[in-house]
Amino acid sequence: MELTEVPRPTIREDEVLIRVRRAGVCGTDVHIYTWDDWAKGRVKPPIIVGHEFAGDVVEVGPLVSDVRVGDRVTAEGHIVDGHCLLCRTGNSHVCPYTKIIGVDRDGCFADFIAMPATNVWRLDPSISYEVGGIHDPMGNAFHTALTAEIPGANVLITGCGPIGLFAVGICKAAGAARVIASDVNETRLALARRMGADDTVHPEDADRAVREATDGLGVDVVLEMSGIPAAIRQALSLVRVGGRVQMLGIPARPMEVDFATQVIFKGITIYGVVGRRMYDTWIQMSRFLKSGQFDPAPVITHRFPLEAVDEAMRVIQVGEAGKVVFEIA
Ligand code: NAD
Ligand code: ZN
Repeated sequence: MELTEVPRPTIREDEVLIRVRRAGVCGTDVHIYTWDDWAKGRVKPPIIVGHEFAGDVVEVGPLVSDVRVGDRVTAEGHIVDGHCLLCRTGNSHVCPYTKIIGVDRDGCFADFIAMPATNVWRLDPSISYEVGGIHDPMGNAFHTALTAEIPGANVLITGCGPIGLFAVGICKAAGAARVIASDVNETRLALARRMGADDTVHPEDADRAVREATDGLGVDVVLEMSGIPAAIRQALSLVRVGGRVQMLGIPARPMEVDFATQVIFKGITIYGVVGRRMYDTWIQMSRFLKSGQFDPAPVITHRFPLEAVDEAMRVIQVGEAGKVVFEIA
């Protein structure tokens, strides 16, 4: 990755130009930075990386009617075709024709980004650019948590990366009876406590914590937010009979699961999470934030200028960070 001068993006008739103020750094950006096999197979450089941002609208195309110059906005970074079967049945989050900013087309680690007006999401005046800039991963957490039945539930969250940390706060705000959070990283367990987790445990202690908290029954809901095979197995084993496992974390390789005993005869429901529901997740997220029920601020641990991209990637790779944000203007 290199910082360089490029032309200001031009917008299509149905697009807007946004001056970027804050941009979140995601694991996806680290994959591109390290140029791993996934990145090599998917990303066609040269491309501007980055997909989480907030900023100000500075120009609108002639067909745009609902976004104005001067609006403070963030945006859904998944650009969908809008007319396939999935889009037309209210399931745009799994549109097979999705293009992702910063992956399939130019992204937001830049002064300006062009976005289709339909993807733009206006920020309430009470929401900072910084919080606006992390709506994408917060939205992953809202989607994962709120498509399960959280009020009164005992919840296990495996993996306290930024998304797991947001999910801790969301589950508490949504009325979970008890939130048990597991991770291998002490820094992240400490952040999980700040976000309101009732119990924070290393994976090897999760079994005992869950049995103690649930009279041996298992938790009602697991939010799997690590993508680590051992944690996925633990999720399936610690969910109660008839419970629900929300799968967000992405395992690097195919893995074995004992479907007969861990899924079928337990009668559990597994839900695969992709992105954010458009736009129910966004509406829920905005209302939780505006009401003050949920505050993501403790999760943001590092802020850098774009010039410090190497340091930003480093703190994520070594596990020192919660959420890392670029301050652009
Ligand atoms: P992350 O990948 O840093 O978080 C993973 C956390 O899991 C880390 O804190 C790590 O220490 C912890 N962990 C490792 N081994 C563990 C174990 N055995 N038990 C419990 N925790 C363990 O950061 P993230 O950005 O929060 O992403 C979480 C996952 O979600 C990743 O797999 C990412 O690829 C995936 N993701 C999915 C979507 C989607 O739409 N499905 C979107 C964004 C991210
Ligand atoms: Zn579609």
